Amino acid sequence: MMEEQNLDSLQLSQNLPLSQDSFRELWESVVTPSISTFPAATDSGHEAWRAGEQMDMLLMQDEVLANGFDEKLFEQLPPETAPKDGVTPPASTVPVTTDYPGEYGFQLRFQRSGMAKSVTSTFSEVLNKLYCQLAKTSPVEVLVVKEPPPGAILRATAVYKKTEHAAGVVRRCPHHQNEDPAEHRSHLIRVEGNQRAQYFEDPHTKRQSVTVPYEPPQLGSEMTTILLSFMCNSSCMGGMNRRPILTILTLESPEGLVLGRRCFEVRICACPGRDRKTEEENSAKAQNGTKQSKKRKSTPAPDTTSVKKSKSASSAEEEEKDVYVLHVRGRERFEMLKKINDGLELLDKESKTKPKASVKVEFPLPSCGKRLMQRGERSDSD
Ligand SMILES: [Zn+2]
Repeated sequence: MMEEQNLDSLQLSQNLPLSQDSFRELWESVVTPSISTFPAATDSGHEAWRAGEQMDMLLMQDEVLANGFDEKLFEQLPPETAPKDGVTPPASTVPVTTDYPGEYGFQLRFQRSGMAKSVTSTFSEVLNKLYCQLAKTSPVEVLVVKEPPPGAILRATAVYKKTEHAAGVVRRCPHHQNEDPAEHRSHLIRVEGNQRAQYFEDPHTKRQSVTVPYEPPQLGSEMTTILLSFMCNSSCMGGMNRRPILTILTLESPEGLVLGRRCFEVRICACPGRDRKTEEENSAKAQNGTKQSKKRKSTPAPDTTSVKKSKSASSAEEEEKDVYVLHVRGRERFEMLKKINDGLELLDKESKTKPKASVKVEFPLPSCGKRLMQRGERSDSD
């Protein structure tokens, strides 16, 4: 209560033409309780302060009068310059998972296989995630803007996606290892159809990887394709055990220098098409500002660039109305619905009446312009 009153009077004093003496009295009555709680202030220093070092006091008063009550003034009194802990360097045993195109413009591309029930491998651009069946081939297209040095290699490594799992080494489950006669039976990622594939296990970290020599595109082609397969399900007990994984693909010089890096999530499951569809829908729902995103722990993190783009694009509208994303099958139908929506938007603008909700048809067009509306997909799946 005392302090409160004094602070009140301090506020008042700033508006009044007080003499220095009366201010000083006031000042000391305010300061004394707080300064006595400073653990770092030595007794002698404290006494010196109490006795009043005139110059300091005058300076302090000037400052207080000029700037108002500044608690930081007191923080400067004890020389508590506790050095901050140095930034701990990241453990070298955890592989880097950031994309790095490098000077060779290293890029990956996946074939468009849609979301039909029968599909064995399909890639979600929106989620940057490959969905595939166990031991089925997933073609991965590798693109560079200029030829890497002779002897360059491509390396595929699997890591756990979540920080809490990142220290663990991704390996096949015991069950699947046991039924495989291959020497590299414990490796999750395989490269198919390449006699020069080599399987490595780091002697220190025990992390496994597979490499193939980088081969320039064949004549008339712009990319090289490698065939990956994953030899466990994401759900395999004693293996991944439902922990999400990332695959890191690096382009490396013959000396092992990383020239480029690309990462994507992988889910190995029985129904890749269905799971991709479900997760993309969940992600779209989460993007639309519904509160579900916080409740659904299984919703994949919406952290891909294309998702961010659509989010920022709609953020201006979110303030005044809800926005919904509609996935439309077939371009013609999309164009038709878009016309309807455009018309409605125009009506909104003209009438200037705000509807409670509007339907926004969104064409998820990524930067490369390759996203398709899965034309004719329905007939494929039937
Ligand atoms: Zn397994």
